[in-house]
Amino acid sequence: MVAAVKHSSPSSLTPHRRGVYTVTMTDRNSLETWSIKDAAETYGICTWGHGYFDISPEGEVTISLACGDRRKAVSLHRIYHDIKARGLTPPVLLRFSDILDAAITDLNESFQKAIRDAGYRGRYRGVYPIKVNQQQQVIDEVSHFGTKYHHGLEAGSKAELIAALAHMHDPEAYIICNGYKDEEFTDLALLGVKLGLQVVIVIERPGEVHQIIERSRALGVSPRIGVRVKLASKAEGMWTESGGDRSIFGLTTTQILTVVDVLKREGMLPCLELMHYHLGSQIPNIRNIRSALQEACRFYVELCREGAPMGILDVGGGLAVDYDGSQTNFPSSRNYTLQEFCDDVVDIVMSSMDAAQVPHPTIVTESGRATVAYYSVLLFNVLDVARLDYREELPVLPEGTHETLGRLAETWAAVSKKNIQEVFHDALYYRDEAREQFLHGGLTLRERGLADQVFWSIIARIRKEARGLKHVPEELEGIDAALTSVYYGNFSVFQSLPDLWAIEQLFPIMPIHRLKERPRNQAIISDTTCDSDGRIERFIDLHDVARWLPLHDLVHGEDYVIGVFLVGAYQETLGDLHNLFGDTNVVSVVLDEDGEIEYAKEVPGDSVEDVLTYVEYDPKVLVNRFRSLVESALRQKRITVPERNAAVLAYETGMRGYTYFEE
Ligand code: PLP
Repeated sequence: MVAAVKHSSPSSLTPHRRGVYTVTMTDRNSLETWSIKDAAETYGICTWGHGYFDISPEGEVTISLACGDRRKAVSLHRIYHDIKARGLTPPVLLRFSDILDAAITDLNESFQKAIRDAGYRGRYRGVYPIKVNQQQQVIDEVSHFGTKYHHGLEAGSKAELIAALAHMHDPEAYIICNGYKDEEFTDLALLGVKLGLQVVIVIERPGEVHQIIERSRALGVSPRIGVRVKLASKAEGMWTESGGDRSIFGLTTTQILTVVDVLKREGMLPCLELMHYHLGSQIPNIRNIRSALQEACRFYVELCREGAPMGILDVGGGLAVDYDGSQTNFPSSRNYTLQEFCDDVVDIVMSSMDAAQVPHPTIVTESGRATVAYYSVLLFNVLDVARLDYREELPVLPEGTHETLGRLAETWAAVSKKNIQEVFHDALYYRDEAREQFLHGGLTLRERGLADQVFWSIIARIRKEARGLKHVPEELEGIDAALTSVYYGNFSVFQSLPDLWAIEQLFPIMPIHRLKERPRNQAIISDTTCDSDGRIERFIDLHDVARWLPLHDLVHGEDYVIGVFLVGAYQETLGDLHNLFGDTNVVSVVLDEDGEIEYAKEVPGDSVEDVLTYVEYDPKVLVNRFRSLVESALRQKRITVPERNAAVLAYETGMRGYTYFEE
């Protein structure tokens, strides 16, 4: 995936903060061939971009948004600058309602096509699982865009049901209640039925059946009941612990039969309408989806045979997102298209029902990730770069240089294609010797510094020579990774990309501008928390996982902006306050009829005051305590009155400020 990185000639580099080198315009416009096509291939945007994201002739990442009945490409870099001009600082999360609309439309239209093509006699009804992105704006928009398809909601807790009952008033859309239910949860669901909504309570634990019977009698409502079955089928992937015999969710066969018997005994079997299962999220392999569905259909048929009316088969979530664009069964990808998924689901349900002479049920999916992943993009600026200060050239050594330094210089001179492994061993040997001698006072600090420089010059030359070789010795494979620069990004992995930290999920990441220029540095990205886990060092790649990302040199006085894409699912609410970095600013972007950008909604991120309150501080008490410190310094004549005023003002301003780096 990565284009060859060539070193700039030393004369074109101007030193800049902390080992950062700013490249002059001559260098940036060099004649080396690099085109936008190279950038697209390097960052894989055409494969994961799904037609929504592309690169403009100006070298900026664009997003395709609807204006009237056409689409227009809008530069994310332009949006970044507009937002800054409006007074919001990075990092910022962009939400694109239009993409949510398109995802809901695609899902529903693909199922409708599959149903038409197969001659299926049931229908499709999607529900959006609130847990995937619970933000009010998302639920609002799902309810709005889903109206034409009666796309409903899935609630996995009492709080989610409370949100669903306020937003989903379509009497034809489902509200599916999963999760463990207390009496209040059950009562609210029954109330929804009484009010004319299609609220189905899915039994997850055997005991819930008694509660539903009791509460429905008490409230005088006929409940709509579902059961969640625990399938034996399991899927590959990172988030698939919800499936299989040992999954903690759903009812075993024995428990299902107990629930059926209780319902029969209580004369409530006619209320059993739905069967649900959930194999796990992000299922990359269509074969797993097919085999689980086949097993699920057998359960459904048998429930019909037990005398339950049934009518709804809820196949849960799991529809994957192709984060790396490889179209494979790699955990960050999927080896099927949306249409293939819909065709397979309809085909398997239809053939299973026909074989058992059971009417075709309404098919429900609880697709969350695939509905909202593309909806949000995180943009952050780079604050600084730290890189090993190495060149391929040998540094100038003083007259009568130390013997070990001389040996290292000889090793440098000996590097050739034929002996890279041998010189690598020599370099390690003399580097270690230099360290040992420094430890015992035989080498000065300056000599040790020079030894390090020569060592890295040797490594740089070895890397250059190794490039042309067919077989690179295994022990040299880590050289590229060792020479990576660290780009310090103004964001928190823990707040904005928790899955990247917790389960090593991959997201497409790339600069959103300067894509007409060849990126010269191989980089990993560190966030602004002071946690060694707060970094990104695994990147998408078509064939593997890349260990570094090609990035450009910083230009003094210009923001270098990186985008993390497909972050709409799960990331926002799983994020935490590590180092007290709070929610980022959020901006919703749409186009008006004339194709002009409209910043439809701005939600300022958490202030310092907000995050301190979350962890139980009282900002007023903090200000008073700080004031007492300042007053005491004033009494002791450490500061003057104007200095006292400035200190209090600085503290209070900091309290109201953004938790991230502000210019
Ligand atoms: N339904 C249930 C019961 C879930 O637990 C989940 C999440 O794991 C989903 C649906 C959403 O799955 P996905 O985001 O893979 O579509």
